[in-house]
Amino acid sequence: MLRLKQATSSAILFFLVVSGYSGGLNSTFRDNTSNLEVYQRTLKLMGSRFDLTVVAENQKKGDEYLDMAISEISRIEKIISSWDSQSQTSAINRNAGVSPVKVDSELFQLIERALKISKLTQGAFDISYASMDRIWKFDGSVTEMPQAEVIKQSVSKVGYQNIILNHKEQTVFLKNKGMKIGFGAIGKGYAADKAKKLLVKHGVTSGIINASGDLNAWGTQPDGKDWMVAIVNPLNKSKVFSWLPIKDQAVVTSGNYEKYIILNGERYTHIIDPRTGYPSKGILSATIFTKNAELADALATSIFVMGVETGLDFVNQLKGVECIIVDENNKIITSKNIALKEIETQSR
Ligand code: ADP
Ligand code: MG
Repeated sequence: MLRLKQATSSAILFFLVVSGYSGGLNSTFRDNTSNLEVYQRTLKLMGSRFDLTVVAENQKKGDEYLDMAISEISRIEKIISSWDSQSQTSAINRNAGVSPVKVDSELFQLIERALKISKLTQGAFDISYASMDRIWKFDGSVTEMPQAEVIKQSVSKVGYQNIILNHKEQTVFLKNKGMKIGFGAIGKGYAADKAKKLLVKHGVTSGIINASGDLNAWGTQPDGKDWMVAIVNPLNKSKVFSWLPIKDQAVVTSGNYEKYIILNGERYTHIIDPRTGYPSKGILSATIFTKNAELADALATSIFVMGVETGLDFVNQLKGVECIIVDENNKIITSKNIALKEIETQSR
C-alpha cells in the first residue's frame, strides 16, 4: 500500500510540478559515509525541463551517466517529434490519407502500445488527438473561441481506430486525410523509462529521471534513504501538501495549469477530449503512480478526459496503478489503496 507522509528528513526535494526552466543547473550532494554521491543536471529536452539525477562513485562517472541519459532522450525526441519535419512521426503525418509509412520497430511498438491504451481507456487517450492542435494552440496565438463548426470538422479526424498498423511490413497508416498523431501525452514518460533502462543496464544503481513532473525513480539515496517526491497544491505550486517516499516507481502528473489559454474568462487546458474536440474540464491535476512512466503518463492524461468519477473508478480496477486527483473545487480524491496521512491542504 502506498503511504503518503510528511517529510521529516532533509531529503532531496523533487517537485512533481516544476514551473519554468532554470537552465543548466549542475549540482552535487555528498554523503560522507560512503563514496557514492548524487549528481544532477537540469536542462531542456523535448521542449520541457528535465531534472536528471544519478548516484555514482565520482564526478567523472556521474557526468558519463548523465550524458548517456541526455543522448538517449535526444535520440527518442528525434523519432517522436511532430515539429521536426525529419522525424518518422512527421513522415506518418505527411502521408495521412496517402500511404503507409515504414518505421523503426521502436516507433511501431510505441504506437502499438498507445493504441492499447486507447482501447483500455475507450478512446480518452488518443494520439490522433493531434489534428486538434491546429485549433487549440497554446502559444498565445488563439485569442478567441474557435468556431463550433471548425471544431466539429477537426474532431472528425480524431480516431485511433483509423491508425492502421501492419506488423509484417512495420508500417503505420493514418487512414484519413487531415489526420495527425502526436506523443505529447506519452513521450516524456517513454523517454524517462528508456533513459532509466539504459542507465540500469550500465550499472547505475540509483537515480531519478524527471521530465517536468513525469518521473521514474529507482534505488535509494546514497545514505540508503528513499527518494522523496513532493506533491504540490495545483493552485499554489510553492505549497507542498505532502511528501511521498518512492521506490522503483514512476509518478506522473497532468495539470491544467501548465499549458492553457483563457477565453471569455474561462481556462481551457491542453488536454483535449477526443469525443468533443474541446479541452477537458473538471480536474486541476491528476497524479498516477505505477511501475513505468509511459503508462503513468498516458493514464494521467486519460483521467483528465474521463473526469473524476469515471477516472477514479477506472484506476480502482487496474492492478498496480494508483492515483491522486485534485478536482476543480481543490478537493483531493485518491484511489482505494492510497492512504493519505497528515495531509494539510492549503487553498490559494
Ligand atoms: P504534460 O505535457 O503537461 O505532461 P500530459 O502528459 O497530460 O501533460 O500531455 C498533454 C499533451 O498531450 C497535450 O499537450 C497534447 O500534446 C496531448 N494530448 C492532448 N489531449 C490528448 C488526448 N486526449 N490523448 C492523447 N494526447 C493528448
Ligand atoms: Mg500524460
